[in-house]
Amino acid sequence: DSKDFDSEVESICPFCGVGCQISLKVKDNKVKYVEGINGPANEGRLCVKGRFGFDYIHHDHRLTKPLIRRDDAPAKGLNVDPGNWQEFFREATWDEALDMAADGMKGRGREVAGFGSAKCTNEEAYLFQKMIRQGFGHNNVDHCTRLCHASSVFALIENIGSGGVSASFNEIENADVAIVIGANPAENHPVAATYFKQFAKRGGKLIVMDPRGQALKRHSSHMLQFRPGADVSMLNAIMHVIVEEGLYDQQYIDAYTENWEAEKAHLTDFTPEKMSEICGIAPEMLRDVARTFAGAKSAMIFWGMGVSQHIHGTDNSRCLISLALMTGQVGRPGTGLHPLRGQNNVQGASDAGLMPMFLPDYQSVMDDGVRSAFSDVWGSGDFSNEKGLTVTEILDAVHAGDIKSMYILGENPAMSDPDVEHARDALAKLDHLVVQDIFLTETANFADVILPASAFAEKSGTVTNTNRQVQMGRPAVPPPGDAREDWWIEVELAKRLGLGWTYESPAEVFAEMKLNMGSLNNISWDRLERENVVTYPSLSPTDPGQSIVFGSGFPRVDGRAKFTPANVIAPNESPDAEYPMILTTGRQLEHWHTGSMTRRASVLDAMEPEANCSLHPSTLRKLGVEPGGILRLTTRRGTVDVMARSDRAVAPDMVFLPFAYVEAAANILTNPAVDPYGKIPEFKFAAVRVEKA
Ligand code: SF4
Repeated sequence: DSKDFDSEVESICPFCGVGCQISLKVKDNKVKYVEGINGPANEGRLCVKGRFGFDYIHHDHRLTKPLIRRDDAPAKGLNVDPGNWQEFFREATWDEALDMAADGMKGRGREVAGFGSAKCTNEEAYLFQKMIRQGFGHNNVDHCTRLCHASSVFALIENIGSGGVSASFNEIENADVAIVIGANPAENHPVAATYFKQFAKRGGKLIVMDPRGQALKRHSSHMLQFRPGADVSMLNAIMHVIVEEGLYDQQYIDAYTENWEAEKAHLTDFTPEKMSEICGIAPEMLRDVARTFAGAKSAMIFWGMGVSQHIHGTDNSRCLISLALMTGQVGRPGTGLHPLRGQNNVQGASDAGLMPMFLPDYQSVMDDGVRSAFSDVWGSGDFSNEKGLTVTEILDAVHAGDIKSMYILGENPAMSDPDVEHARDALAKLDHLVVQDIFLTETANFADVILPASAFAEKSGTVTNTNRQVQMGRPAVPPPGDAREDWWIEVELAKRLGLGWTYESPAEVFAEMKLNMGSLNNISWDRLERENVVTYPSLSPTDPGQSIVFGSGFPRVDGRAKFTPANVIAPNESPDAEYPMILTTGRQLEHWHTGSMTRRASVLDAMEPEANCSLHPSTLRKLGVEPGGILRLTTRRGTVDVMARSDRAVAPDMVFLPFAYVEAAANILTNPAVDPYGKIPEFKFAAVRVEKA
């Protein structure tokens, strides 16, 4: 009933990077339902998560009081049942909890590290990285971008000078060819997928490249189900054909790029015939895709974590960038490079400097001028010019005894990190762990102090979606009990660390961010309050922002983008007699990342209540297991038992395992080997043994 609410508040969906604008309908201080509104990324559309995934915010597992671990609590890391947390923790006042949180970090310099979160607003992410840098003098601060698109960002900055997308995904409306590789938008960016389907329906050629079949296959002109981990061989073969047949855009290459001759020479050896043996795609198909893409008037490339989460993730992105550059498919309507961002604010949290090598706006921590500009604004001394440690390196440093105290805001490394037992052992080794979250997560099981935070519908703040659209999130209901807005908690903690912070609102934080972030020029808090969204870069106070960038060169030396040749590198571990199959992990439509929110959303949990894995029906038959039966998956890291599903989209030598389920945690199995540049783990490929449980 459209009248059955007291108030309605416009905000942003908290899940994926599409950043759908929503209207929250509130009655009796509870969100009753959600509708899509006319944001630039969604035009009123929502997926099942956005529409039905909100009631976790009123779940009775919500943390409502600060908690402190009891002196006589059982060992850290034991699963704390939300019903009997009193055995492990006691309630505390905010003063007591904040004092204790600060005391465990104060004066400890490099013994402290922080994980912020892409679930945070831009202001919260900015404050978090500032606290670590200003408070402890180093850059050991990171967040889950390290686990999703760090390799893409490395390649983008290296070759086109900017980590953001070159065009919004909605630009596909103006394209005639699009590649979607290593992404499954129908499950992971469902509203973006509706635009992709419309594009195909009106005659656009959709080239889908994915080792696993997927819903977009039905709409594709070409479906390339290549061998897992063989991206570079396939992409180099396609580019080889473009060179061999002279299909490249010499004028564009001459005007806007460098290192073309090296790339061209490098591609000579990658014939479709040779590469077909590695990637499993027929040479004729590789040639056809090359001609189709190079023959397009306007073409876009979209990619996801199937590209980035490999030890050669950076090389995969380098290939995609080279493909777009050699065909001149950047900077015009209907063209562009678009890594589809995972979380609703992973773009914004990265922009805000929540990374060990970059200050806000990807300004290097190694640049003395940059650091002093920030120190001037912050009113404090210098901090280290060394790149800090990344997510997995921080946990290694805990094992090595170098890091002893951590502040974790909104991340759940006890579920999300590769080889998660290694991560859990690290968390157990810390002598001080502060966790700020809305639920008692698997990571909070290890905490000494737990600070009860706010869900998206309980606070103000800006978030930035995959399209570079900075959008305004607004509070619709108050936080439960004594839970507080995250920015407030950060400020109170910083005061106790002696940092002298005096912010009284997120608007004040946003104003400070603008001082050293050129990307926010012409974007003000007041403007976002009025307009809901502005895309960066915005060229004037009335410009809604540039959906397409790099039409007249790139933010690199001489305005030229660069070709960086990539070689074929095998995955870190290969299937063998003991572990003969390939494990790949990812998300499924109904659940979000480590499941802490969506498994507490009643509709989503009812739709997908049980941990599951998917295998080809012929593989299940060989294993003697019916769909619904239990399989045991074992890798060199560990074992999980999980319910089997039959899925023809999965290749016969593969198993797909979603990572949202703690009872069959996919990351018990995953390989922690990382890409040397982006330092992203190889979540998409591990050798696995599969047997009947
Ligand atoms: Fe939310 Fe993404 Fe679904 Fe939009 S597509 S409603 S942002 S989960």
